[in-house]
Amino acid sequence: MSEELKKEVAEEVKAPVKEVKAEVKPEVKAEIKAEVKAEIKAEVKAEIKAEIKAEVKAEIKAEIKPEVKPEIKTEVKPEIKTVARPEAKKFERRPERKPYKKFQRRGPRRKVCFFCQDKVENIDYKDVAKLKKYVTEKGKILPRRQTGTCAKHQRDVSNAIKKSRIAAMMPFAGE
Ligand SMILES: [Zn+2]
Repeated sequence: MSEELKKEVAEEVKAPVKEVKAEVKPEVKAEIKAEVKAEIKAEVKAEIKAEIKAEVKAEIKAEIKPEVKPEIKTEVKPEIKTVARPEAKKFERRPERKPYKKFQRRGPRRKVCFFCQDKVENIDYKDVAKLKKYVTEKGKILPRRQTGTCAKHQRDVSNAIKKSRIAAMMPFAGE
């Protein structure tokens, strides 16, 4: 095809379009322009929003990543170490306990029998001055654990006190 023919064909094809455009009223054109403007605005807004979103995401990720990774690394290893150490220390501390103390006697020393010390064989029921030591204020016979007399002499003393009671030289208990 020659260039002249091409031009002729093109003009023939474009002709109806030009006619249609000429027929379109200026009001309708303005409406279309406004619609197109609004569409373009919305598209541009969406694009800008997407860009801003991507930037913010990148910023937040950059902030989070350096904090999270080192925390995990530093936390895990020392935990394992601290768990192992106290167990070892416990075994070291146990032998530091104080050794077991044997029984220690408390209170006053054990008394010695007065009659055994003086080698008294027969306790006289008439010797009220001596017997008064083995009697309470009311006249009760004192027990062995308080006076310290031996079993044999405690028997003799109590018999002597009872004899002297009958002889009215010492009071009966409670009188
Ligand atoms: Zn004795």
